[in-house]
Amino acid sequence: MQTYLNYIDGKEVPPAGGTFFPTENPYDGKVWAQIARSDARDVDAAVGAARRALSNTAWTSLTATERGVLLRRFADLIIENASRLAEIEMRDNGKLAAEVTGQIRYLGDYYHFYAGLADKVHGSVIPSDKKGVFAYTKYEAKGVVAIITPWNSPLALTSWKLAPALAAGCTAVIKPSEFTSASMIEFARLFEQAGFPPGVVNVVTGFGSEAGEPLVLHPDVAHVGFTGGGVAGRKIYELAARGLKTVTLELGGKSPNIVFDDADMDQAVKGVVSGVFAASGQTCMAGSRLLVQRGIQHEFVERLRQFVASAKIGDPTKMETQIGPIATRPQFEHIMRCIQTAKDEGALCVLGGHALTHIGAGQFVEPTIFTNVSNSMQIAQQEVFGPVLAVIAFDDEEDAIAIGNDIAYGLAAGVWTQSLHRAMLVTDRLKAGTVWVNNYRATSFTSPFGGYKQSGIGRESGVETIKEYMETKCVMISTKLDVPNPFIRR
Ligand code: NAD
Repeated sequence: MQTYLNYIDGKEVPPAGGTFFPTENPYDGKVWAQIARSDARDVDAAVGAARRALSNTAWTSLTATERGVLLRRFADLIIENASRLAEIEMRDNGKLAAEVTGQIRYLGDYYHFYAGLADKVHGSVIPSDKKGVFAYTKYEAKGVVAIITPWNSPLALTSWKLAPALAAGCTAVIKPSEFTSASMIEFARLFEQAGFPPGVVNVVTGFGSEAGEPLVLHPDVAHVGFTGGGVAGRKIYELAARGLKTVTLELGGKSPNIVFDDADMDQAVKGVVSGVFAASGQTCMAGSRLLVQRGIQHEFVERLRQFVASAKIGDPTKMETQIGPIATRPQFEHIMRCIQTAKDEGALCVLGGHALTHIGAGQFVEPTIFTNVSNSMQIAQQEVFGPVLAVIAFDDEEDAIAIGNDIAYGLAAGVWTQSLHRAMLVTDRLKAGTVWVNNYRATSFTSPFGGYKQSGIGRESGVETIKEYMETKCVMISTKLDVPNPFIRR
């Protein structure tokens, strides 16, 4: 049994309250580690360390180029340690061996990207309308950034925030999900090896109400970056508003994956499957509403059904496994409730629809496809966050756009067609932060990701994101020697 402490000011420290909580392997249900149960005292210590680091010349005197050097060292350490970190995410979260090592190695590229960007953020000289004034802007680190993440991709979703925050010169306090904290502590140890000064990155583990809320409310936190569910996201937005803090919120979706009758069906089947069944559907960007043109509906669903029915379900550590366990017990129960509601509402279950209680500790859900779905049903409107696809038929482009947008969310969408005209027409009118055409689920450090409507506020990844972690300072210098008489109106 391993014990994970908090990581504060470059040291591993026990929680102030002296208590720990267990973390389980979702595949076999066994408790494998104890995690520090932190409260406001630990948060205060971590934010204090992050605030002190902001006035420690070991961090503040670094040029942006030198910050980039540290980020590059860290990136290389991630790549070196990818297998070990992946093994922890498999154990703690049930992530698939076939996916996770590559995903973690790719995180190294995130840090390399922001390492390169660190010294390329510059202000501008402003042509002032005031005579004798030289005006310019510069960008400065916002301060201490709070990073609060969910259980589905702990290291990736942290890095989407942390890499630009560090490149900008901020310091950070990370509160990972109570279900998957271990990999974050292992990750934090690499910061020390990379040479980051103590206090620049801190991790406090624990529950949302006990550790997350004090972190959001802490007066020395300047910005909150959050990924997770809508309930917690709204609460965090309200708490952050009390301190007039800025936020970036990534709150999930119910994304339409739209297949037109002129699509290459073989490619579209693969895209729809990876959109909703990869990571057992536990991704915010899941294409969980398949909108398929009525004329090809039966053939497409049948091809899809056959493809998905062959998926290998089981031990996530085996390379051949394609569908792993549901990461947490509450999430498993939520998915099973969604499936039952869909059946009660009259949707037709053409594949799956049951729990697989004979595998591992029984926290598995069969890949499930519902047809006869109308867009007003709960299965079409509610985020399931599991391997469940709702199929909705549409007639033409107008109909597809109307159904696609008839949802509270707006994180992503997919469009499958061989017509460029149709792709552009539909893409322009979909209210979604990312639209994939003839592919699905590609993300990149180069490309902004985030949602319209209830899917959140702000963007992550890409060049502009670094400004979320910076303040704009405008400097006006008088080039005249005399200050004009303030009592004479000009
Ligand atoms: P959550 O939103 O409950 O928790 C995410 C993080 O926020 C955790 O670290 C949690 O401790 C923290 N938190 C919760 N309440 C808080 C509060 N009041 N103040 C500060 N921090 C708080 O997400 P979850 O339990 O990981 O999953 C719940 C649902 O969220 C899932 O069913 C799923 O639908 C959705 N989800 C969305 C995403 C996404 O990427 N958008 C990821 C995971 C889960």
